[in-house]
Amino acid sequence: LERLLVNPLEAIVGSGYVVTDREKMQNYLADETAKIVRPKPANDLVLVKPSNAREVSEILQFASKHRIPVFPRGGGTGLAGGSIPTQDGIILSMERMNGLEIDTANLMVVVEAGVTLETLSNKVSQAGLFFPLHPGDQNAQVGGLVATNAGGSRALRYGVMRNYVKGIEAVLPTGEILNLGGKLHKNNVGYDLLQLIIGSEGTLAVITKVILRLYAKSGATATLILPYENRHDALSSVPKILQQIGLPLAIEYVEKDVVERTARHLGEHWPAKSGNCYLIVIVAEESREQVLSQSTRLAEVCQQNRALEPLYAESKRDQDRILAIRSSIYFALKSETADILDITVPTAELDNVISLIEEIQKEANVILPIFGHAGDGNLHVHIMRDAGEDINRVEILRDRIYRIAIEAGGVITGEHGVGKIRTGKLGMCLAGKEMELMKSIKRIFDPNNVLNPRTKILV
Ligand SMILES: Cc1cc2nc3c(=O)[nH]c(=O)nc-3n(C[C@H](O)[C@H](O)[C@H](O)COP(=O)(O)OP(=O)(O)OC[C@H]3O[C@@H](n4cnc5c(N)ncnc54)[C@H](O)[C@@H]3O)c2cc1C
Repeated sequence: LERLLVNPLEAIVGSGYVVTDREKMQNYLADETAKIVRPKPANDLVLVKPSNAREVSEILQFASKHRIPVFPRGGGTGLAGGSIPTQDGIILSMERMNGLEIDTANLMVVVEAGVTLETLSNKVSQAGLFFPLHPGDQNAQVGGLVATNAGGSRALRYGVMRNYVKGIEAVLPTGEILNLGGKLHKNNVGYDLLQLIIGSEGTLAVITKVILRLYAKSGATATLILPYENRHDALSSVPKILQQIGLPLAIEYVEKDVVERTARHLGEHWPAKSGNCYLIVIVAEESREQVLSQSTRLAEVCQQNRALEPLYAESKRDQDRILAIRSSIYFALKSETADILDITVPTAELDNVISLIEEIQKEANVILPIFGHAGDGNLHVHIMRDAGEDINRVEILRDRIYRIAIEAGGVITGEHGVGKIRTGKLGMCLAGKEMELMKSIKRIFDPNNVLNPRTKILV
């Protein structure tokens, strides 16, 4: 491909922004997917780094014309292999597209696809406002967050990425540039193409710029750790909190072995001494008094459901340390993880689902660490390497857990997406007609099937 691509691509983006040396593109060949299930990158690849939508459009027109696959790449923090270039073709990195403009009057930010979550959150905070979305890896880029419809711990109160996106500039695989939506809270003009592109995982269009809704900062926050002796008491508390207290900012579920190990991994210590598992609840209100009163009521509800003595963190430093431990669990377990699942079920089913997963643990004699965004019914179940390096064994465990989720009214992925490791499992969740509609949509957006094509066609 090098001979065919370098000159035309350099003519579009300039000579410094086309990379053909394999050594220099190593960081673009994988994502954070666990190694055993991670797809292999193709051999013949060219990396290109455009700086604006017009350049993206020219690259895509060229690729479509010559039927060359293009793999959009954000921060590479994905957990489903979505950005891995699995066929010979072009890696399209969005890293140079990093403009950001805050519109305080409208509580919106106009931000280019390559801006990282860390930069976005910091800049918005410096402007006195709040962008709540908090998936665990701050290196994710805005384009990737939109393309995967990312969630994270604060989705409980503010929703997932879909709930923030008000406008999108995106380039179709055939090169046309779309400008959808705007700085608007209501927009009922025609079919909602903007929402269709959100969560399309780089298969329908390349996102180049978005308009996101912002919020005022909360006046006060606190983080509670509620220890429990067992998983059932912890998870059956979640619906009770939601019924009796309303919506905290986050309700996360973690277990003792895993958080203590993660704390050690970070050179920290996990503050709770009692209990085997924990709910971490973040309360955010206008005043400290309101936070205190809500936290007291919340602790009472949990103690009626057998929670032990709660811990209360109020300083920013203590709260950040707890959240950092929660956010780093994946990295602490990663070297021994064969796959991380992302099932989502109705919140009242969590307790039942955990019992069924425990049965699998016993029967198969494996350890399945579990943590997740309990308030959203979203559980990350780790299949560890001691379940076997054998991919078939991992696959069998994975399918059993998927079936449990589906039978409980859930889905196989609530956040991480289909990527390239779950395309074969779509039929477990989607009816034939739904698959047919999705394939038709893909053909309309991408008639030459060049944008992020799957080995097995989702699409
Ligand atoms: C420690 C850790 C914790 C995480 N926690 C969470 C969590 O709490 N919630 C959650 O939802 N996710 C979580 N993730 C997963 C990941 O961070 C998200 O999926 C994130 O949105 C991916 O963004 P990215 O920029 O890294 O995308 P990439 O990994 O680069 O790409 C992901 C997909 O988006 C496509 N894509 C990227 N940029 C564009 C673009 N500009 N236009 C079109 N398509 C594009 C790619 O082709 C690919 O299909 C976590 C990951 C890690 C490693």
